[in-house]
Amino acid sequence: MELPQIVMDEITTINWDPKFHIITKTYDDFVRTFCVCNHGFVVEEVYDNFMGVNGHSMRDKLSDNTNFAFLVRVELTEPIENTSDYALSIATITNNLGGGKPILQRLGDLKKGRRSTWTRLEKSNIIPTFDCVTHGDIAMALPHRIVVDIIEGLEALDKVLPGVASDSTLLYAPEIKLYSMRLEMDKNMKTKIEGLYAVGDGAGVSRRIVGAAATGIIAARDIIKKIDF
Ligand SMILES: Cc1cc2nc3c(=O)[nH]c(=O)nc-3n(C[C@H](O)[C@H](O)[C@H](O)COP(=O)(O)OP(=O)(O)OC[C@H]3O[C@@H](n4cnc5c(N)ncnc54)[C@H](O)[C@@H]3O)c2cc1C
Repeated sequence: MELPQIVMDEITTINWDPKFHIITKTYDDFVRTFCVCNHGFVVEEVYDNFMGVNGHSMRDKLSDNTNFAFLVRVELTEPIENTSDYALSIATITNNLGGGKPILQRLGDLKKGRRSTWTRLEKSNIIPTFDCVTHGDIAMALPHRIVVDIIEGLEALDKVLPGVASDSTLLYAPEIKLYSMRLEMDKNMKTKIEGLYAVGDGAGVSRRIVGAAATGIIAARDIIKKIDF
């Protein structure tokens, strides 16, 4: 999502990276904000098979916009559990539709069921910070359930931050986050294999920098206990 910084100022002056967790009306799904980039820039994120988007803020160069990821949590049970495959197939189809580039669409166009064009984008009160995109229709690429979740999630967020769900809000796709399976281990991060500890995202026990670091400290404390100084 990318929108004018002024829309987010009221909350980001209190908390630089606010986390909103929303349960959507239609599907009862979990949607959340992630990685709020104040005065930030949307950037490309190149994977082996597709190009997604991400965001960052810089110390000396400020834009007039805020961007953040808006993520719908997907859990699968049977016959497949592999959400990574599912996410990658969505990302691939999105890239195919975008001719190898991410798709950019205004929220108003998404709701009206039409693709965005540069002419329509120019009429908005926001200038995209990332232009290596194809203006298109995200509803052609993302599953209906995810599109509904995104629209309903933004409408819920709009009640707290008026303007978030404005027609001019920009959506870039695909943005996906993949998580590892969680290994079996005890509360000290020790696996069943003697002497082997697993920590961080790869072990499936964290999803962010501080969490990953904390799991490393927990393991290190347990290892230190066993060392005879
Ligand atoms: C684009 C992006 C944006 C993110 N933004 C945020 C954010 O704003 N805030 C936040 O809190 N978190 C963010 N995260 C998540 C955060 O980066 C991770 O949760 C965190 O880095 C996990 O730390 P880690 O040490 O477990 O794993 P990593 O940081 O992935 O470290 C694993 C290391 O192991 C190395 N490695 C892999 N295989 C081998 C091997 N065989 N031999 C030797 N070395 C190997 C890798 O090169 C890597 O350096 C973001 C992640 C991504 C991808």
